[in-house]
Amino acid sequence: MRMERSQELFQRAETCIPGGVNSPVRACRSVGAAPLFIERAQGAWLYDADGNALIDYVGSWGPMILGHRHPVVEDAIRRVLERGVSFGAPVDLEVALAEKVISLVPSVEMIRMVNSGTEATMSALRLARGFTGRNVLVKFDGCYHGHGDSFLVDAGSGVATLNIPGSPGVPGEVTRHTLSLPYNDMDAFRELMAARGGEVAAVIVEPVAGNMGFVRPREGFLSLLREETQKHGALLIFDEVMTGFRVALGGVQGLFGIKPDLSTFGKIIGGGLPVGAYGGRRDIMAHVAPMGPVYQAGTLSGNPLAMAAGLATMEEISRPGFYENLEEKTLKLVEGLAAAAKDAHIPVCCDSIGSMFGMFFTKGPVHSFADAKTSDLMRFNAYYAGMREKCIYLAPSQFEAGFVSMAHGSAEIEATIQAARSVMKTL
Ligand SMILES: *Cc1c(COP(=O)(O)O)cnc(C)c1O
Repeated sequence: MRMERSQELFQRAETCIPGGVNSPVRACRSVGAAPLFIERAQGAWLYDADGNALIDYVGSWGPMILGHRHPVVEDAIRRVLERGVSFGAPVDLEVALAEKVISLVPSVEMIRMVNSGTEATMSALRLARGFTGRNVLVKFDGCYHGHGDSFLVDAGSGVATLNIPGSPGVPGEVTRHTLSLPYNDMDAFRELMAARGGEVAAVIVEPVAGNMGFVRPREGFLSLLREETQKHGALLIFDEVMTGFRVALGGVQGLFGIKPDLSTFGKIIGGGLPVGAYGGRRDIMAHVAPMGPVYQAGTLSGNPLAMAAGLATMEEISRPGFYENLEEKTLKLVEGLAAAAKDAHIPVCCDSIGSMFGMFFTKGPVHSFADAKTSDLMRFNAYYAGMREKCIYLAPSQFEAGFVSMAHGSAEIEATIQAARSVMKTL
């Protein structure tokens, strides 16, 4: 694979952008590779600066569920371009997107648009604290909720580790209020709530985890979170920035029939443009300014270009059969990858829900971040490099999920499985 142009661009980027990238994982450091600079995309394919064509399983880290350059989304964006791209005043598209989300996600009665998933979770946490008058946040190890100070606590395994900022620059005074528990550890959660439930403002969770690799909730885990938060007057926040409109039309909450108090969205809801949103119970959302006292604002929030792309995407994914079709393709891919590994005698642990999938290089089972870390990372890195050489574009980290889009056809899925078959033999 030619990479001269990408390498040249990366060298330039490294002199003027920290690490050469505007978001860390893109730099491909953990896999020891240099990033490919992308020039354009179409459907399931990316075309890089050196003219390589790659089958894309990153999908801009989640948003591109329709594939790249979907004509309906492009038309919607084009119509906005002809009217002006930002007014800082209300537009009809904001109302339409709010109504659409509310119609698809039963727990959401009111919703506020922001510009990223990070902003959505930060705002939802502030709202939960403002509403309950409490400060403590409970999260789970290996879950990612954006880069807000309160969420950057990776407590490692074990119960409720305190006072450990996960990043320099985050005051201990802030993370003191964040308690992080092992994902799927129901006993630890029960014990924590019994001891400190009355101090907890919110419990936030990736209801299907995608940021430690793909990890599904164990039977009863999410309903336990629901019961215990209700019992102690804490709010339950489902961070569906990744899973919303990805695992199913109604998100994880629709799939498992659990109603959180607040939900956060991003990625698909913006159709590839910068959007996030938080919403939920009307009585809680009524506390958001200017309806209530909890302050949150944004110069570009509800931006018409972003609303148009999001709304067009939401309309396309609401078509009958959309998710069945996507899930079928994803299952075929995951079964093919598992079979390729089996034939090469490589222990892997594959799983998917909807069009979100993952594969760990361990025999599993993987229920937590600690389990995920038993994956053979040397083997993952070799797999990543081998697949990229064969023009299969995967996330450059074991601890990320993969995404299939509507634009992936059986030809792309088959080519991916064939590539995996030959790469697995070399691992
Ligand atoms: C991506 C992601 C975020 C952060 O969203 P950004 O738009 O990157 O700020 C938050 N939560 C989850 C679950 C995510 O996957």
